[in-house]
Amino acid sequence: MTYFLNNFLSGQWQAAGRAVHTLSDPVTGDTLAATGGAADGLAEGFAFARSEGARALQAMSYGQRAAMLSEALKVLQAKRDDYYAISLANSGTTRADSGIDVDGGLFTLGFYAKLGAALGDARTLTDGAAAVMSKDQLFQSQHLMLPVRGLALFINAFNFPSWGLWEKAAPALLSGVPVVVKPATVTAWLTHQMVKDVVDAGVLPPGALSIVCGSSAGLLDALTPFDVLSFTGSADTAASIRSHPAIARDSVRVNIEADSLNVSILAEDALPGTPAFDLYVDNLVRDITIKSGQRCTAPRRALVPKAVLHAVGEAVAGKLAAIRVGNPRNADTGMGALVSRSQYDSVREGLELLKQEASVMFDGSAQPLLDADANSACIGPTLLAVRDADAASRVHSHEVFGPVSSLIGYRDSAHAIALAHRGLGSLVASVYGADDGMLACYAHGLASSHGRVHLVSPEVGKTHTGHGNVMPASVHGGPGRAGGGEELGGLRALAFYHRRSAIQGPATALSRLTQGATGFSY
Ligand code: NAP
Repeated sequence: MTYFLNNFLSGQWQAAGRAVHTLSDPVTGDTLAATGGAADGLAEGFAFARSEGARALQAMSYGQRAAMLSEALKVLQAKRDDYYAISLANSGTTRADSGIDVDGGLFTLGFYAKLGAALGDARTLTDGAAAVMSKDQLFQSQHLMLPVRGLALFINAFNFPSWGLWEKAAPALLSGVPVVVKPATVTAWLTHQMVKDVVDAGVLPPGALSIVCGSSAGLLDALTPFDVLSFTGSADTAASIRSHPAIARDSVRVNIEADSLNVSILAEDALPGTPAFDLYVDNLVRDITIKSGQRCTAPRRALVPKAVLHAVGEAVAGKLAAIRVGNPRNADTGMGALVSRSQYDSVREGLELLKQEASVMFDGSAQPLLDADANSACIGPTLLAVRDADAASRVHSHEVFGPVSSLIGYRDSAHAIALAHRGLGSLVASVYGADDGMLACYAHGLASSHGRVHLVSPEVGKTHTGHGNVMPASVHGGPGRAGGGEELGGLRALAFYHRRSAIQGPATALSRLTQGATGFSY
């Protein structure tokens, strides 16, 4: 019988219902699990989270909630092998790629457990120092940060069922805000299993963590004004979410992480034969092929000096050709599958669109697959070269969510920066070169339209964290097309789950507040 991913709401696992959506292995096509359709009991489940979950979480100090995250981490660490097995079967990823999701999620959870421990007994957070508002200095204003009086709903994308949960849940739970997660259906099994393990271990209070699988119907209708919504997914879904009355009328706070046409730039000084050139080629190949290009941060546009475009193309193509694509169960496989056959079709369609303005420099579909057949969701990497950098438009607007990148030749750094901005807002830009002055100039020019700018010189060639890797110490998100959101970035992430209020009054009462000595309970 197919494993059913049931919903957990109001502190209870709902009974398995009729299978409406199925999850499958993208390599073999085998059915793995199923979900139901529209969830029952959403309004009650959300109310339970807002009352029981929030009350229990906010009765704790930041340090106590951090300890709770550490306990959740221990539960998950003990089951890592199970998560790798689910990832292999359901996402079709190699062990290394599964690690980016599974261990990336656990690392981020541990990171916030440590940050929270340092907040110790605190029960309120302040924003800046008190401002004196009267001549006798007795009347003051203090900005206070308090957990939002609602729940955090996460609607997540298919590509990071583990990391996508924990990078959001860790700061939310640390803030004292209960979480309801709705994973993308196609890979919901891993999120479901992790939630189940943590819930069954009893390390979180009832109502702190809930899950809805299978259908997003009714989720937004169940939100009330003090809830927050964090969405990760496509720009089209994001647009429909933004126009929902909960957001448009009731001001539910929303964070959106959407499509992104990230760039990776080879600086003019990094000529073939230099260490910076080699670093660029190695990292570009890695970032194109990790998780078969299904990372929101993957460099879709590779900007290189026009004069060396062919040299870059040949070097990248040579390395792509050495990567075997196919069934991740085979130890020789370097790149696994896309998540589904429908993603495969979407990548093929996107490639045809880009080919209208670009030539193919490397076509991975010409290589035989390893232990996988033509009906699988495996696809070889493709490297394109845009024919006319200034005339091309699709390369700056259409995200192909697969192992595809386009080389674009630029004239000088001003041209490169102008081309980068044509993505209209991206998550990340990386620049490779040996001249610190040039790297700094690029960073200054790129930062206004990129959430993160990643600079790599030979000096940090072995230690940098990678263009595509999202580290919890740095903010993740981008302006414009990328959704305008912001996540992570150390304690900055907590701001989304807190409400800032200006408390004006006698300095003596304000100091009671900042010491947390108020006697208030939620
Ligand atoms: P998607 O189709 O937009 O789905 C994302 C989530 O939204 C899924 O959970 C989906 O549920 C749900 N959903 C669909 N329609 C909805 C609606 N009308 N109301 C509420 N929820 C709805 O995106 P995807 O295909 O999973 O993910 C790929 C995209 O995500 C890519 O474009 C990628 O760039 C982007 N992404 C961005 C980031 C980032 O951090 N910026 C990270 C990862 C991915 P169902 O699965 O049940 O349909």
